[in-house]
Amino acid sequence: MIPLRSLSLFFCFTICATLTLISNIQGQSSSPPVPPGWQTYTERTDYRDTPRYNETIEFSRRLAASSNTIRFTSFGRSPQNRALPLLVAAKGDAFTPQAARKRNKVVVLVQACIHAGESDGKDAGLALLRDIGITKTRESLLDRIVLLFIPIYNTDGHERFSPYNRINQNGPRAMGWRANSTNLNLNRDYMKADAPETQAWLRLWNEWSPDLFIDCHTTDGADFRYNVTYQFEGYENVSPSVGRWMREVFERRVVPAVESEGNLLAPYLTLRDGRDPAKGLEGFIATPRFATGYAAMRNRPGLLIETHSLKNYRSRVRGTYDVLRRTLEEINRAPEELLRLARESDEETINLARQTAPSKRIALSVELTDKSVPFEFKGVEYRRESSEVSGQMRLIYGAKPLDLNVPFFNEAKAKVTVAVPRYYVVPPQWTEVIDRIQWHGIEFERLREELTIDVESYRFSEVRFSPNSFEGRVLPVYKVAAVRERRTFSSGSIVIETAQRGARVLMSLLEPEAPDSLLAWGFFNPVFEQKEYAEDYVLERIAREMMEKDENLRREFNQRVANDPKFAANPRERLRFFFDRSSYRDEQLNLYPVARVESEIDPRLLMKQ
Ligand SMILES: [Zn+2]
Repeated sequence: MIPLRSLSLFFCFTICATLTLISNIQGQSSSPPVPPGWQTYTERTDYRDTPRYNETIEFSRRLAASSNTIRFTSFGRSPQNRALPLLVAAKGDAFTPQAARKRNKVVVLVQACIHAGESDGKDAGLALLRDIGITKTRESLLDRIVLLFIPIYNTDGHERFSPYNRINQNGPRAMGWRANSTNLNLNRDYMKADAPETQAWLRLWNEWSPDLFIDCHTTDGADFRYNVTYQFEGYENVSPSVGRWMREVFERRVVPAVESEGNLLAPYLTLRDGRDPAKGLEGFIATPRFATGYAAMRNRPGLLIETHSLKNYRSRVRGTYDVLRRTLEEINRAPEELLRLARESDEETINLARQTAPSKRIALSVELTDKSVPFEFKGVEYRRESSEVSGQMRLIYGAKPLDLNVPFFNEAKAKVTVAVPRYYVVPPQWTEVIDRIQWHGIEFERLREELTIDVESYRFSEVRFSPNSFEGRVLPVYKVAAVRERRTFSSGSIVIETAQRGARVLMSLLEPEAPDSLLAWGFFNPVFEQKEYAEDYVLERIAREMMEKDENLRREFNQRVANDPKFAANPRERLRFFFDRSSYRDEQLNLYPVARVESEIDPRLLMKQ
């Protein structure tokens, strides 16, 4: 498409094309020489293909059989009954959580293929473990670390293999599917834990309590020159030390080291306006439904790696390899920092409940502010033109590099805060909720007998339901008002003390205004449903009796009819006016069954779980 008159342009294009070609071969670090037979499947295919589940398991078993620093096991089974694979790499005998702690090792959990079409992390991790356990060129990475690697987390989605599963992605030639076999996105399931894979993952986490978590993905979205982007939580909704290590160590030390390998890195960013990069970039906030948002809620740094979908597969796999290798190297340089961070965050969280106001409040959610910092965005040239297909402006990316100085909106502030109560009490009938509290590793006791106590809880109003189901659930939308009352709990109710390291997860599960609370995910939907109804002719009679007894009520009703045309025109609402003020109303409608308790609960009333 180059016009003749722009020959000079042609030359400059060639130079730029070469530059672009150069940019496309970022992340070209390569593993030290690999003995025959030990190339990974992807290396053997020169990064055109990625292995299926069976090939991955076969290679993992070979690694374990041929190395005394790698063990192959599984941490659960998928809905289609595939073993969820786990490779444990360690020196000496540190292959169990207890031995790892005894040897003062840093435990790092790396997972790949939660979105099974994004296989870069799998192929990078298998190459790294080969270099650790077989060629031993990276064996020193295990000096102070126990590495847990999940090569394929979403095993069933992985085997729904097709060349058409990732429309925005440049290689491999075929790959797995994003969701699991019940079409749930596992990277939205961390709090509600509906998927068996998530429940197995939570058991693994509770067993090992990793000090650092890394989740490997591939982007969708804009074109730019970075082959790797990354993200971590560090706002005021997580324990302060969690973000500190990522900012001070990962960003200051690991990122430059990875770039020295020929990669180009940037924070995970989205265009503020999807059709105009010049409008600036926004940071991403991972609520706890996301893997890395969840890790942060468990007081541990979580690193999200998002390689750039348009880069070639080699550049993405080697870029991921370099991030993993350099991060582990950095931990070995100063392992105590991460171990101390984990202790500090747990202590800080346990002490939350013991604080006095106002430091007794935590942020349940944060939101980006309109503050921005200048950011030199390493993009590619683009133009916008109106499209006869969509009828909107379309973005057309070119090949030439283009640096843009744009605002980067990456600052966030607390959106909703709440005081940390001494206890939560959950009645025994909410079994699905109690199961999840247990699966998240939260400690609790049960009431031996009935207990009546002063509580704070919530009443909801303006309740609506989302028109479509999301991740298999119908999500309610509601307004929240605090209520204080005396409430009786039956024996078997669970009593959860908040002075525990799981307090942030606990409050994110039980506080209605938390973005991923079980209420927000629809676990309490029945409390929004009216069960008993009055026949109109019955209510007509009761309404008259009520107005005869209560002149104020009659005045209030008449005023409402006179001043509120919408109410006046709605027979249902006019009758409901009386029903809601009658003794027949359902006191518990729109009332939150979970309570917050401040006063001491007699330990003799409680039985351990
Ligand atoms: Zn993903």
